[in-house]
Amino acid sequence: MKLAALGEVMVELSPRGEGLLAQSFAGDTYNTAVYVARSGVHTSYVTLLGDDPYSEQMLEAMRAESIDTGAIERLPGRCPGLYSIYNTPDGERYFTYWRGESPARELFADQLQRERLQNYLREVDCLYLSGITLAIMAPHARECLLTFIGEFRAGGGRVAFDSNYRPRLWTSVEEAREAVSAFLQQSDIALLTLEDEQLLWGDGDADECLQRNGRYRLSELVLKRGAEPVLLQHDGELCAIPVPEVREVVDTTGAGDSFNAGYLAARLQGEEPEAAISAGNRCAAAVIRNRGAIIPRSIAPGVTSR
Ligand code: ADP
Repeated sequence: MKLAALGEVMVELSPRGEGLLAQSFAGDTYNTAVYVARSGVHTSYVTLLGDDPYSEQMLEAMRAESIDTGAIERLPGRCPGLYSIYNTPDGERYFTYWRGESPARELFADQLQRERLQNYLREVDCLYLSGITLAIMAPHARECLLTFIGEFRAGGGRVAFDSNYRPRLWTSVEEAREAVSAFLQQSDIALLTLEDEQLLWGDGDADECLQRNGRYRLSELVLKRGAEPVLLQHDGELCAIPVPEVREVVDTTGAGDSFNAGYLAARLQGEEPEAAISAGNRCAAAVIRNRGAIIPRSIAPGVTSR
């Protein structure tokens, strides 16, 4: 089984004491790709990079994680997006982004690039993308991706989607709703977070959220709710799977992304949805016990293994 994750990986700068910043790489679908690859599933990351040293380092980081980089195009004279984390005096984290010119924004925009990508993606079993992937793409490119996804599914491919709503990446909430809705209509597996759904759609509670999403023809609908039980709608049945308690939560960055990785890896390895949710919970638990969205392999070499 092969998975391809589409999106943007950025340079991350996070505070490490007076005047010091640690540099790493992260991005929602990229974080997921890393943990899926660590679980032994063949994983590709699909994005565009530049020809600068950071792009080079990103490729090296992906190869070190056994992520297939064969679909990544390089744009001359460009460099990846960047974000910094600032710890406010009252303990909150403030994120600043410089990603407006990121080469990943050209995903699916150019015809030749699109044709090459489509040929590549026809060979994979599962595509994974998020609301952030859609938000950074040009509207026309989004349309083209949606058309391709229709063909991909008709050919037997599966599509997994996390709405990951980030208001400032969209021109309006209506634009976000329209795009997210169109892609959910063409998804098999929805991995949603209640908080994001409420922000995007104004759902009062989980029931309302599940009901609203019932209009899509999803085979699996997973609703993440932090430490609250994960809800699964599958085969016309709804069940709640408890989240094991994590006593020392250090940093919840990447909780949802790593949960998705555990879930998708398990499903692609033949596990049933209920068991895949437990794998998602295990993967997320290992990540939130440590700092950063991507924890070192040495801490949890195979975070999704039982
Ligand atoms: P997101 O990171 O997208 O906001 P959630 O906060 O819903 O997503 O968390 C995703 C998953 O991470 C949960 O389903 C659970 O497995 C795990 N998780 C998050 N917060 C906690 C917590 N406080 N204790 C235990 N597990 C957690």
